[in-house]
Amino acid sequence: MLSGPTCSGYFPSLARKSSNISYLHHNGGWLCFYDTTILQLDVLKIYNRKLSSIMVTFSKIMTERLLLRALKGGSNTKIITLNGKKIRKMPSALEKLPGLRTLDLQNNLISKVCPELSTLTQLTLLNLGNNLLEEVPEEIKYLTSLKRLHLFGNRICRIATGVCDGLQELIMLNLNNNQLTSLPQEVGRLRNLTYLSINHNQLTMIPTEVCSLENLYELHLNYNQLMYIPEEIKLLQNLRHLFLVRNNIEVLPEGLCHLKKLKLLDIAGNVIQIFPAGFQELKLREFYCEGNPLFVKQPITAKLPKVIWTLQEITARFVLHQLQENNQLIMYSLEYYPEIKHKISKAKKCVLCGKPFLSEWLECVQFVPPSKNWKISKNLQLIPLRILLCSYRCFRWRGPDVFGIVQE
Ligand SMILES: [Zn+2]
Repeated sequence: MLSGPTCSGYFPSLARKSSNISYLHHNGGWLCFYDTTILQLDVLKIYNRKLSSIMVTFSKIMTERLLLRALKGGSNTKIITLNGKKIRKMPSALEKLPGLRTLDLQNNLISKVCPELSTLTQLTLLNLGNNLLEEVPEEIKYLTSLKRLHLFGNRICRIATGVCDGLQELIMLNLNNNQLTSLPQEVGRLRNLTYLSINHNQLTMIPTEVCSLENLYELHLNYNQLMYIPEEIKLLQNLRHLFLVRNNIEVLPEGLCHLKKLKLLDIAGNVIQIFPAGFQELKLREFYCEGNPLFVKQPITAKLPKVIWTLQEITARFVLHQLQENNQLIMYSLEYYPEIKHKISKAKKCVLCGKPFLSEWLECVQFVPPSKNWKISKNLQLIPLRILLCSYRCFRWRGPDVFGIVQE
């Protein structure tokens, strides 16, 4: 490896004499090119953060010429880094570099990838962050060895069909700061994905297929417009970190309580008032919930309304009770009424008496102290948990930490 001095105009003499440089790194300043001994570049890395406007033209010429050098390396060239070079068009000569493993073109002006990109089947890292792309292009699906894909800071509003099918080795996908309003269902086919980040987009929902990414370890969905999280999130059994900061989420799904490996949950800046029952059992290390209108333990008195159950509710409770008692006749009859069977399957259980009910219940809040092992936000003294009771009879038996929620 050889690093150039930051303001030198020439290669160090050692470099000029070398015909076997494996790594050339020049940080600022500019390079001299009339040396013809450097023929075996494995790595080409150029930064020009400090170049003045006069130097930009120089910079373009240098980029092209250095690229030519890399091309001379042919299949030996493994890494190309052209960071912040004002490149508008991807170099089509990429097809002459079949052994390329890393292609870093971040901080340029690329609005379209070149078709030759699809020939880079050995590529494991592609960084097109901070460019002008409007879609995740189809060409990417041919990059079958790709493990890391950075597409942050573009204008991406769609993902071309079939892209996910080709990316079976992908473990990391960064789509932060784009304009996605939805994700295609096929995202669920990225079966090796462990890290997915889609912060600062305009997602209003995430498809349930995302929940089939069973290797997912980190999921970042901060600064979107999500209204809810699918119940199927419980399928992400390897998830450790979940970030949902600044969305419009009102209710967290009960499925969240089944994420046994979850260590960090950040839901700051949503509209959550209450957590699903079982939430306090999570084995979290960090939990942040600032900026949510959480219920606080401040009881108010309200009149108990008289409730008369509907005929459907009374029937459902009877049938559910009979099923609990293993009534064979009811079980047998239900097989002929699949619609009723489906409805009955959505029954809930009273937290107090354990009896089932279907669609009429009393929503209550129970306050429990957060686990001592959790590192938490300052605003959280007690966790408000949502619990459901079957009747006012059970409501009268409730413990001192359970309160009815007054419907406004
Ligand atoms: Zn009850």
